[in-house]
Amino acid sequence: MTNYCYYTVVPKLPQTLQPLLEIANNLWWTWQTDAIELFYRIDQERWNSPSVEHNPIRLLGSLEWSELEVLAQDEGFMNHMHLVHRKFQEYMQQGTWYSRLSKDWEHFTITYFSLEYGIHESLPVYSGGLGILAGDHLKSASELGIPLVGVGLLYRHGYFRQSLNADGWQHERYPENDFHNMPMELVRDASGEPVKPYIDYPFGRVHFQIWRVAVGRISLYLLDTSLEENSEKAKQITKQLYGGDEEMRLQQEILLGIGGMRALKSMDINPTVCHMNEGHSGFMPLERIRYLMHERSLNFDTAFEVVYASNVFTTHTPVPAGNDRFAPELVLKYLGHYIHELGIDNQTFIDFGREVPGNKSELFCMTVIAIRFAGFKNGVSKLHGSVARHMWRNIWPSVPEQETPIDHVTNGVHLLSWLSRDVKDLLERYLGERWVDDPDDTEVWEKVRTIPDPELWHAREALRRRLVTFVRKRLRESLQRRGATKSEMAIADEVLDPKALTIGFARRFATYKRGDLLFHDLDRLRNILSDESRPVQFIFAGKAHPRDEGGKHIIKEIIHTLHLPEFRHKIVFLEDYDISLGRKMVQGVDLWLNNPRRPLEACGTSGMKVTPNAGLNMSILDGWWVEGYDPECGWSIGGGETYDDLDFQDEVESNSIYSLLENEILPAFYDRSTDGIPRRWMQMVKEAMTNLLPVFNTNNMVENYTTKFYLNASINWNQFEFSDFSHARKVASWNRKIQDHWHQVSVRQVQVKTDSEELGVGEMAHVEAEVLLDGLEPQDVIVEVYYGKMDHADRYIPNGFTERLNNVELIDGCLYRFSGDIVCHSSGRFACTVRVINNSPLDIRRLDITPMIWW
Ligand SMILES: *Cc1c(COP(=O)(O)O)cnc(C)c1O
Repeated sequence: MTNYCYYTVVPKLPQTLQPLLEIANNLWWTWQTDAIELFYRIDQERWNSPSVEHNPIRLLGSLEWSELEVLAQDEGFMNHMHLVHRKFQEYMQQGTWYSRLSKDWEHFTITYFSLEYGIHESLPVYSGGLGILAGDHLKSASELGIPLVGVGLLYRHGYFRQSLNADGWQHERYPENDFHNMPMELVRDASGEPVKPYIDYPFGRVHFQIWRVAVGRISLYLLDTSLEENSEKAKQITKQLYGGDEEMRLQQEILLGIGGMRALKSMDINPTVCHMNEGHSGFMPLERIRYLMHERSLNFDTAFEVVYASNVFTTHTPVPAGNDRFAPELVLKYLGHYIHELGIDNQTFIDFGREVPGNKSELFCMTVIAIRFAGFKNGVSKLHGSVARHMWRNIWPSVPEQETPIDHVTNGVHLLSWLSRDVKDLLERYLGERWVDDPDDTEVWEKVRTIPDPELWHAREALRRRLVTFVRKRLRESLQRRGATKSEMAIADEVLDPKALTIGFARRFATYKRGDLLFHDLDRLRNILSDESRPVQFIFAGKAHPRDEGGKHIIKEIIHTLHLPEFRHKIVFLEDYDISLGRKMVQGVDLWLNNPRRPLEACGTSGMKVTPNAGLNMSILDGWWVEGYDPECGWSIGGGETYDDLDFQDEVESNSIYSLLENEILPAFYDRSTDGIPRRWMQMVKEAMTNLLPVFNTNNMVENYTTKFYLNASINWNQFEFSDFSHARKVASWNRKIQDHWHQVSVRQVQVKTDSEELGVGEMAHVEAEVLLDGLEPQDVIVEVYYGKMDHADRYIPNGFTERLNNVELIDGCLYRFSGDIVCHSSGRFACTVRVINNSPLDIRRLDITPMIWW
């Protein structure tokens, strides 16, 4: 046994180069082309090398003193550095969208919880879309100046790195993250010691430290259990993103939710709003409640009201298996002692995680607990909103499905993170500056139409050429690693044609995304690829989950197919899809292909990344494309049908891909004017940029989250807090009273009174309902008429209208007559009924405390 001492070495720079370190330590640089080029020009080969991998801290740490002195003497470089540094300082100080909103909103602090963050390749703590979205959320929150902090975990090993063997089988490597060469710093207390909160797990106390990552104006706090004083078991918790078994996942989610709140507390950050990005952080509300009970002496019910009214939850997963579920015994093993501190019993607690409380056969679901503890809930596209309302409708059995309280906010992408230099220059020249600060302003983007076709086309050609060069280099490197022969390597130098229509497909190889759909009919594909007058080529990339054999087989099949001589030069598969490769691809391709099984793609964001780079989309009408698609700016595969027979669906939709290519896409791309420019294609590109860019960007998305949820949730919190929670106590006791008497409420009689047998369109019908309110007052309830056309089987009204019955008369004892008028909007046979809803002072709470009572 040998003993070791540890010490940390940081890059040391001459005084004049200090601004470089400051720039490197804030991930703001990752979306600033000037800053990227600053690091790139230090040593471009080293910048792209595997030992640096676009990480400026590592780059600076690898420079010899003599090299640094040369830099410091280089006037051009120093000037470049000062420009970037000044821009950074201005960015950190300038006014923002948020600061212009209102002064009252200064007291807001929003915290955002996510198990993964995809900000840049130099911070590998993400796996895919969920993480990229979280990363882009933080970047846009920074641009907008939203007072938000992120909370997540720091993994020793990030997501795996993929390599394929000669047979196309995926292998996984888990390189260790070197925290001291990542752009972050340990959070320390006033005496300089690292802050170390802890949680008691059944196997003992788990301490964790907190790393701060600066993302522009936003702080992201990452929790790390790899501490010397921790047991082996405790250290394992942050070992690997999505690693280990179910129990490990539970341990991570406890750390994220409960540990995340403790981390904030230890830094004296007191959120007004907490946003759960996916159900992984579903335990967070418990800890929020615990603080209120301890520090403000509230009981559980009152604390619940406060937390509920100021929590936001976003669900991302329309696949049932993608929602974490745990055996109740396992959850109790970890949290049994903890929930007793909250004064709730096991049964109550487990029921928070069940769609139907008391249903012993149901597991404990993280999505359900997050739903029950969040007043603001949403899916991530319009279609996914309705899928989520259907999926979780059992939580509100008395509520019509379309009224299920799950809203939607459509995802976006952070434009500057995905935009190429080439197109950015054109935008700056023709649009001015405003699109950077205000990308959701539709007017700004109208000016895209003024960019001359040749200029935009030449940018596209340059981008495609660069991608082809990159692909060849990347292929050569992987062939070399695999020990390929010289002649095999020679092929790599010849794959792809810099002039051919280039189509990209890159995403996780989950089976529902159908990575192999293009290969459904090889003869037809061969035919399309063999037309020398209209060349087309494909670039594929993507990882299968390490335990997803099905996904790995799809990759293997693709590799086998593209080894066939007729495909060899025209279809390539690139290993190790990540942010860096993704950025290269979305910038270089002309067209992005997306063919998931509808409606399993909740939103999908990769296709949004090609639009700013003047690329087009061809996609199934799923996720965001339902909102984005327009025949003037892209193509839809099929018309949004869903199928029971999956083989038949693959058949139909692959045929649709081939037909689109043959009849529309290739003709549009190869229809050239005399100067060689595809005018029709460019017309579509401009239409897509004008229509899609103002909508599908994360600035727009974060503004939507802010105006729809964050502000309301913050106002709720502040109202409770300013009244020292007396208002919350009132709400809680009011809810309790309603719940105690609700079984005594019923609708006795409903009558529609009209002047004649038949009503004309535009006329009124008068509705009267007799409602029994034993123990409650008329102002405690909302009585509504619910009317519309019946479904075919005369069973229910699928998309009913509602009108509140406002007139109240006492009939007798506690029987009241509620009445009002409804307007006849259109002709046909209508039905109406009456329902009673509680009139909770907190309107978002109404559907959760008591069921609707129907006549
Ligand atoms: C954008 C992105 C994703 C998400 O893409 P989807 O279309 O939602 O599947 C996943 N991984 C990487 C590396 C990305 O850049």
